[in-house]
Amino acid sequence: MGHVKGLICKECKREYAQEPIHVCEFCFGPLEVNYDYEAIKKVVTKQSIESGPPSMWRYEALLPLDEAPKVGLHTGFTPLVRAKNLGKALGLSHLYLKNDSVNHPTFSFKDRVVSVAISKAIEFGFDTISCASTGNLANSVAAQAAEAGLKSCIFIPDGLEAGKILGTLVYGAQLISVKGSYDDVNRLCSEIGVNHNWAFVNINIRPYYGDGSKSYGYEIAEQLGWKTPDNVVVPVAGSSLITKIWKAFHEFEMLGLVDKVQTKIFAAQATGCSPVTTAIKNGSENIIPVKPNTIAKSIAIGNPADGYYGIKTANASGGYGEDISDEEIVSAMKLLAETEGVFTETAGGVTVGVTQKLVQQGRIKPDEVTVICITGNGLKTQEALADCFSAPAVIEAKIDSFEEIFSNDLALNGLH
Ligand SMILES: *Cc1c(COP(=O)(O)O)cnc(C)c1O
Ligand SMILES: [Zn+2]
Repeated sequence: MGHVKGLICKECKREYAQEPIHVCEFCFGPLEVNYDYEAIKKVVTKQSIESGPPSMWRYEALLPLDEAPKVGLHTGFTPLVRAKNLGKALGLSHLYLKNDSVNHPTFSFKDRVVSVAISKAIEFGFDTISCASTGNLANSVAAQAAEAGLKSCIFIPDGLEAGKILGTLVYGAQLISVKGSYDDVNRLCSEIGVNHNWAFVNINIRPYYGDGSKSYGYEIAEQLGWKTPDNVVVPVAGSSLITKIWKAFHEFEMLGLVDKVQTKIFAAQATGCSPVTTAIKNGSENIIPVKPNTIAKSIAIGNPADGYYGIKTANASGGYGEDISDEEIVSAMKLLAETEGVFTETAGGVTVGVTQKLVQQGRIKPDEVTVICITGNGLKTQEALADCFSAPAVIEAKIDSFEEIFSNDLALNGLH
């Protein structure tokens, strides 16, 4: 604990004290947490991590808190699933799923960033937590603010899935639906922040929030037996997760916990909102903002805050970016459920479907160790599958009724 020296500008390297700020006053670059790696090297070993709790807090020395975490004590350390059946379907012999669809407490990767952001907000003395969200962040902020006994005021674009809305309201949060896209909501929140002294987890608390994502990368490496994989396929919204998985692997390399990192990082988006993968495919480092139009609402950010760094991460690693249609997203969600028994949300359909495409393109090779990021839970985006299945057969509670349907239908479906 207490390995944070302050903040540092990612561009001009100017240093700042620890404060709830996120932009450099001099060059307008984003601020990052500035760690005392010399001190960290003295205390972090494989053994020190392995003897920690079965949660993301086993990496506490590498996370930006000065005090013990206040919320999300059970967040993280989600399963790394060996996906033999899906691997067979995709033609990959060493395929894994990093499954945050079962993360505690709100079933998405966002629980990691929020547990850090709210713990930090408490250190700063805030009593109200806020955010602009595409849905999962709203769920996690509402839940963990409730756990902390803090107030929350949460902003979402209109038209989100019912599960994301109810999954926010249930915690007693103040929820505001804004007419517009996520990018409109985000801009509005920046303006609200001028008048209201709130902790906006992904705006003024963003440098700390972002580092919560590092735990997802640490876990992949530790759970592979202190190895980094050949490929990781990452869903991209604001580009926090993709840059922080890369950062996590390189911190582990610097600490001598893994060998030289040779992982290719692949960005995955929905074609209906693909500013990052489009730039990668065009060989450009600049985001051209888009107006989102996709069922993958949780990753529908048209003007991503860290998009430039997301592009750079994929390129620097030797990876690539791909996107798939809404139809392909639905097929991939079903394929994952049918092969591995994992029901992911639309963003997980994006990473599974994009992986399939990358294998077909020869960018991911059959025998390479490949990790697909599954970052959210399918029960929250049921609308996406609304047209896929007919209602279950209804019968009387009588054996004749069953045998009738059995000989008419079930036998044809392979039951005997
Ligand atoms: C937020 C989110 C992501 C990625 O978010 P970044 O802003 O790129 O870090 C991925 N998957 C799901 C399900 C999300 O909710
Ligand atoms: Zn700067």
